[in-house]
Amino acid sequence: MNVGIVGGGQLARMLALAGYPLGLRFQVLDPAADACAGPVAPLIQGDYDAEDGLNRLADWAEVITFDFENVPAAVARTLGSQVAFYPPAKALETAQDRLYEKTLFWELGIPTPAFATVDSLEELHGAVVQVELPAVLKTRRLGYDGKGQRVLRKSEESEAAWRELGGVPLILESFVPFEREVSVLAARGRAGEIAFYPLVENHHRDGILRLSRVPCQAPELEREGWNYARLLLERLDYVGLLAIEFFVQDGRLIANEMAPRVHNSGHWTLEGAETSQFENHLRAILGLPLGSTAMVGHAVMLNAIGTLPDRAAVLATPGAHFHDYGKAPRPGRKVGHLTLRAGHPEDLRAGLERLLPLVGFAPGEFGSDL
Ligand code: AMP
Repeated sequence: MNVGIVGGGQLARMLALAGYPLGLRFQVLDPAADACAGPVAPLIQGDYDAEDGLNRLADWAEVITFDFENVPAAVARTLGSQVAFYPPAKALETAQDRLYEKTLFWELGIPTPAFATVDSLEELHGAVVQVELPAVLKTRRLGYDGKGQRVLRKSEESEAAWRELGGVPLILESFVPFEREVSVLAARGRAGEIAFYPLVENHHRDGILRLSRVPCQAPELEREGWNYARLLLERLDYVGLLAIEFFVQDGRLIANEMAPRVHNSGHWTLEGAETSQFENHLRAILGLPLGSTAMVGHAVMLNAIGTLPDRAAVLATPGAHFHDYGKAPRPGRKVGHLTLRAGHPEDLRAGLERLLPLVGFAPGEFGSDL
């Protein structure tokens, strides 16, 4: 079967790599001539809203998916009227705007930080009173990896934050003094069946995900996370893999955001689960049976940001796996990731002590229990 992917980044690359054993063929659409999925799938070079490339993809593909959430909603709708397009455009549109997203969470009874929309400096002053400080001012659209965000600790900081971010629709949300961050990954098939992955624990630095681990240290929250995921998947009539990021505060889950696609916090599944998130996304959108999401050991995923670590040093670590996305090094860019898998937590810890310095962190950086 022919699978078209809008976007040719590392997620598209890993989708294609997961799909070839199933006998699938891929083409990716991306404006960049050096899109990193290009070496593994034929590239249609074109803008995301240029008809020529989109028509070529739609004519060739039996199903179209995407690898980033800023696919223009109108494009998603047009493609969806021509060919099977998953996850559905409605999920994409909701996830593109933090206000729609949080409103949907709220409607479904999924806890969120207190929030208020901000379209002017006056509204920001009102929102500060309503939401209370500390709070985080965020652009409603196009923010990622902590970009387009500013923490407000005192009301005097409002004007500077408005000058920095204002001019586009914003949202102010209360700052959550979380104990940890976790994510739920779940795949829903065309017939409505759902497969949930074990709850993932995530560690960020400077707004960027650095480390994910399973099992999470708060497994009692897994059921609650799965229930919230089910509500979203069913409301959106979702098909494919969905990721939802949560804060944990006082032993409760508070939803931060969702991503209607395979997700960085699910990369550990490549070696750490019976069926990877990439394969299950493909199985879901093609109407194939979903695979087991069971863990096959304790696993940690480390992102390589900016540059790749030394490959031989990584591979000399027992249980370590190396993933190079084939991207040029650049500060702040996700250029690859490492997975470490072990049968026993002690072995995982020993391996992590060796790997952390290779990606620029001290051995104890993410806590002594890791
Ligand atoms: P986001 O782009 O919304 O995923 O934010 C990136 C990271 O910033 C999150 O993973 C958190 O570490 C932090 N962050 C975002 N929103 C909040 C908040 N309301 N309270 C505390 N930390 C936050």
